[in-house]
Amino acid sequence: EKGKPLMLNPRTNKGMAFTLKERQILGLQGLLPPKIETQDVQAMRFQRNLRKISDPLQKYIYLMGIQERNERLFYRVLMEDIEALMPIVYTPTVGLACTQYGQIFRRPKGLFISIMDRGHIRSILDNWPETNVKAVVVTDGERILGLGDLGVYGMGIPVGKLCLYTACAGIRPESCLPVCIDVGTDNQTLLRDPFYMGLYQRRDRSHRYDELIDEFMEAVVDKYGQDTLIQFEDFGNHNAFRFLKKYRYKYCTFNDDIQGTAAVALAGLLAAQRVVGKPITEHTVLFLGAGEAALGIANLIVMAMMEEGMSQAEARKRIWMFDKYGLLVQGREEATDINQEAFVHPRPGEGVRSFLDAVNVLKPTAIIGVAGAGRLFTHDVIKTMGSLNERPIIFALSNPTAKAECTAEDAYSLTQGQCLFASGSPFGPVTLEDGRILVPGQGNNAYIFPGVALAVILSGVRHISDTVFLEAAKTLAAQLGEEELSQGRLYPPLSNIREVSLQMAVKVVEYVYTKGMAFRYPEPVDKEAYVRSVVWNINYDSFLPDIYDWPGVSHKSH
Ligand code: NAP
Ligand code: MN
Repeated sequence: EKGKPLMLNPRTNKGMAFTLKERQILGLQGLLPPKIETQDVQAMRFQRNLRKISDPLQKYIYLMGIQERNERLFYRVLMEDIEALMPIVYTPTVGLACTQYGQIFRRPKGLFISIMDRGHIRSILDNWPETNVKAVVVTDGERILGLGDLGVYGMGIPVGKLCLYTACAGIRPESCLPVCIDVGTDNQTLLRDPFYMGLYQRRDRSHRYDELIDEFMEAVVDKYGQDTLIQFEDFGNHNAFRFLKKYRYKYCTFNDDIQGTAAVALAGLLAAQRVVGKPITEHTVLFLGAGEAALGIANLIVMAMMEEGMSQAEARKRIWMFDKYGLLVQGREEATDINQEAFVHPRPGEGVRSFLDAVNVLKPTAIIGVAGAGRLFTHDVIKTMGSLNERPIIFALSNPTAKAECTAEDAYSLTQGQCLFASGSPFGPVTLEDGRILVPGQGNNAYIFPGVALAVILSGVRHISDTVFLEAAKTLAAQLGEEELSQGRLYPPLSNIREVSLQMAVKVVEYVYTKGMAFRYPEPVDKEAYVRSVVWNINYDSFLPDIYDWPGVSHKSH
């Protein structure tokens, strides 16, 4: 490519950073202002403009605009201030953006596959301009964050997740493919929305849906290879579990809402355990919510307890769940599903009606909120946790912020700063009456999936076992220093996430080779050097041809 098309392609565009020689060779001279600019100055321009915008949604629109024009600059700006910008490209703002996707729409991002395209997915994939895709994030939009069914407006999620693949783990942007599968939506508001961008029909829940997903999986590996990583994201509960079971030994796949969440939550618990000084096997965990997140976390906690020598049955007994209808107990009127069975226990006593009752009766050391139903950790619940435990563990993981089970402020102030708190969406530091400043942890899946994805891609893992997520959780918890723990932090600062992800990738690469799960040969001897040598960076490439002289040969022609 040359000339204007080169500048219009965000992957090759450098704006005013094209050098004089490049401008001349590439036919760009005159198409740019005369100034030759450094990326530093370009980044400064965008950072200043961003600071002037106060509305988060406007920031989102502005940032995505940079991505559409100059990809390296976008990642530079994102990475330089990841702590402030992650809440824009990811939860909570991405949620808001998804609800209004049709109104803020400028240029399409990612690949849209609708149920009308059945039988043609392979040829649709051929329309995608990149040939070297290594990672796919796919949603069907049915359970976007805790916001419910947003249909194709959910595309914002795979797009945002893959931004973090690159920003956090240095996975090349051209290797990343966001996909939204459109089988309709049951969201009545969207079906009446003139700006909606998907099929105006109710969700197809017939065999056609399953056939479509089957076809999609086959088409992806046919085009990009058997070891293409396929991350499922924000599918409805029933389908999430079904597809994970169906595909996990057939493809290189994982479900972030189940397994990624599990790892990040377990890492928080392991970090909390370092503070409390009580082994994981002595904890009793009560979940609010019994869906994808709750079951994923619970199963991984069981694995962690078993590693410490506990039996599976004993470990499961230490975990309780409370859903819309109350505690999951044997013989209750409302049905429980097969995935929940392991955590359905005998009734612990009569009269457990509310979540507060459950806390009083079960005396949990940790409560984990993943119901996506708002502020259900009431003041009484928090206070009771404080009176039952010296250091209660309270995780309010539902996203976005408005759905969190409680605020950081409530959790800390109602327990006199004793609780170990983490949330899914970010909360700022909290100053207590006695002047202590506590920094809430963000149990953000972004601590897990980019590092795990990088490791999986680099080592040619065929199937991602749950032990990989256990390993990732342990690695993450181990990265916290004593000082950070004493501030109440359960996760490393987000500003450090790139290093955190790379170190996690190194550990996971070592792990999968040791366990015989890696299929890329030859095995790199120095795993850390290997990981670091392949990560993508934001420096512009030169477009100049390789010009050189032959040694000792004069240029005079004869
Ligand atoms: P899900 O599979 O739909 O599960 C939701 C669960 O909550 C279901 O068991 C549901 O019960 C229960 N529930 C709903 N309303 C309730 C209420 N009022 N009281 C008690 N339980 C209630 O969804 P999910 O994937 O687990 O996600 C749930 C939330 O976790 C979302 O907000 C999501 O954003 C958040 N999440 C956070 C992270 C993170 O921070 N790292 C990661 C993943 C998910 P029924 O089945 O009976 O409706
Ligand atoms: Mn998700």
